[in-house]
Amino acid sequence: MKTNFLQTPIDYLKGVGPGRADLLRQELGIHTYQDLLNLFPNRYLDRTRYYKISELQRSTAEVQIVGKVTHLKTVEHKNKKRLVATFRDETGEMELVWFRAHKWIRESLKINRPYVIFGKTNWFNGFSMAHPEMELLEEHKRGLQAGMQPVYPSTEKLSNKGITNRVVNKLMQQLFRETGGRFFETLSAELLDELKLMPKSEALINIHFPKNAEKLAKAQYRLKFEELFYIQLQLIARNMSNKKKIKGHPFESVGKFFTEFYNDHLPFNLTGAQKRVLKEIRNDMGSPAQMNRLLQGDVGSGKTIVALMSMLLAIDNQYQACLVAPTEILAQQHYNGLKELLANMEVSIRLLTGSTPRSERNELHQMLENGELDILVGTHAVLEDKVKFNNLGLAIIDEQHRFGVAQRSKLWHKNTLPPHILVMTATPIPRTLAMSLYGDLDISVIDELPPGRKPIRTVHRYDNNRLKVFAFIRDEIKKGRQVYMVYPLIEESEKLDYKDLMDGYESIEREFPKPDYQISIVHGRMKAEDKDYEMDRFVRGETQIMVATTVIEVGVNVPNASVMVIESAERFGLSQLHQLRGRVGRGAEQSFCILMTGHKLSNDSKTRLETMCATNDGFEIAEVDLKLRGPGDLMGTQQSGVLNLKIADIVKDNDILKAARYYAIKTLKEDPGLKEEKNARIRHTYQQMAKHKNIWNYIS
Ligand code: ADP
Ligand code: MG
Repeated sequence: MKTNFLQTPIDYLKGVGPGRADLLRQELGIHTYQDLLNLFPNRYLDRTRYYKISELQRSTAEVQIVGKVTHLKTVEHKNKKRLVATFRDETGEMELVWFRAHKWIRESLKINRPYVIFGKTNWFNGFSMAHPEMELLEEHKRGLQAGMQPVYPSTEKLSNKGITNRVVNKLMQQLFRETGGRFFETLSAELLDELKLMPKSEALINIHFPKNAEKLAKAQYRLKFEELFYIQLQLIARNMSNKKKIKGHPFESVGKFFTEFYNDHLPFNLTGAQKRVLKEIRNDMGSPAQMNRLLQGDVGSGKTIVALMSMLLAIDNQYQACLVAPTEILAQQHYNGLKELLANMEVSIRLLTGSTPRSERNELHQMLENGELDILVGTHAVLEDKVKFNNLGLAIIDEQHRFGVAQRSKLWHKNTLPPHILVMTATPIPRTLAMSLYGDLDISVIDELPPGRKPIRTVHRYDNNRLKVFAFIRDEIKKGRQVYMVYPLIEESEKLDYKDLMDGYESIEREFPKPDYQISIVHGRMKAEDKDYEMDRFVRGETQIMVATTVIEVGVNVPNASVMVIESAERFGLSQLHQLRGRVGRGAEQSFCILMTGHKLSNDSKTRLETMCATNDGFEIAEVDLKLRGPGDLMGTQQSGVLNLKIADIVKDNDILKAARYYAIKTLKEDPGLKEEKNARIRHTYQQMAKHKNIWNYIS
């Protein structure tokens, strides 16, 4: 089958017509034959089995029965009419019931002719089935499908307008008739053979009209593999060609700044993991190709120092570096922290955020352009077009999950040669997801915490235990510790949340009166300078309690804070809870995280709370999160087109993903240009893929 033919507009398919074509376009994005072909069923109903009426049980779900309608009547009850048919087979009788479309049923239903009916049964003084799917036995036998019946994705509008599952099924049959069911094979004979994959045409017919469960499973495997294989192929090819084509600035020397810092100013010994990661970064930046690396490390694992030392390498090679953070508070903290570490060195560093005054901004722009400034720390403001570097060699982005891919690439266009890019994230991403999302980035992991850290103790307490919690907090403060109390702030219910925060603040003020206790408060409605002022008081230890919304979520570093109380913890997602908890446990003291909730908890909330109490390992938590929420809801994945998978499932099809990645790498390593004859199909498909955005537009 020629690919062109599959690009025929869906209007041309017999049985579609203009009205249905519009609906298919609007509701399911089906524009062409190909789009319809790639509308994969969500699930399948087992129609291999035929029940007898005498076999029905109250617990049976969907059943299929052969029998005849012997009688039809209208029954009225409380002003509502329903149409009731008596349906018999040789073993007994039951009722079929319709609440709508009486006229149509009366006209089309054939009395005393054998039908196959399908649907859910109900039991009330006998079995009945409401709105059964019905097909004359003779037509049923002629139909293409025999065994597993596909259930296609649908929308309310589609079913209201009569495009039922059955109609879609009929259209699919028509499509196979018109195309002859022969489609272009997209995988090489070698792959098909080695992995024992079902050929393309066979897979497509079996995904839509499976003969049996075994064939269906093979068809699904083949199509999932294909989908993941081409995504991986694309990512890996991009990564390989970036390395080849996208020249970066080779940082050839480890010079004065790095060495001086390492010898004289490093405040502690680096952990093994920090050393390893630094080596990986140095190797990348020392090569003539651009670095594109993701640095993953749990909260508190010490990414900042790695960032700083990478920037010193840039400076050693006469380049500038920038560090971009997602919030003003974080940018400020990074700036303060870095400035302190660089206190005795001749490195110029400045901060640029949305609230930098214009006069200072102008001065900054000047210094950047003439190369006086070595390091620029800031927020998104750094990405603005006005901000021009003299020679930006390294751009570090902290806390990736707040940054879109588009923003990442914005940094590329700040120079003729793109700077090396290091993306740091404290949100551990499960490997499967990382492979799919960041397959084009190399990944470094800091999987070791600095020595001497005591694991944070996490407990779950109900609101009615609040007084005990307050008593505990008083004890900790007496020992000289500081405490965070965090309230949710969720946009939809902002007003209410804000009130909760203020009520909470007042009750805390009552429980912890001045002058013995000092309290800071930080929330999103405050002016930046007030936030900074309050934050600062807490950082300097002038206040013992920080009442805040999640603005303090990421990055804030106050080692003396040892208690994190999270109010309405059931309302937070797992990764957010983990981030918040990461604000404590940064010093040598034992730290605590207290999750406060009411008594009413959903199952998912319970799982989240239990997971938090059971482990401090961010990767473990991320795996649970992925299972609970699915990849689309994980932070930062929304923008990613990669996850619009049609048939594969990142969580469930982990093994297929691994296989797909393995074979994509193998294929490209052996034949980087896909030039060999045996890879002709893959090359063809890959080239088609480059033209279209949606992978499934070419994989047929
Ligand atoms: P994160 O990875 O969350 O950004 P930070 O870089 O803020 O972590 O580091 C957390 C804390 O650990 C900081 O106080 C930092 O000074 C300290 N730290 C980092 N690396 C080490 C180390 N190798 N030994 C001891 N302390 C370290
Ligand atoms: Mg950090």
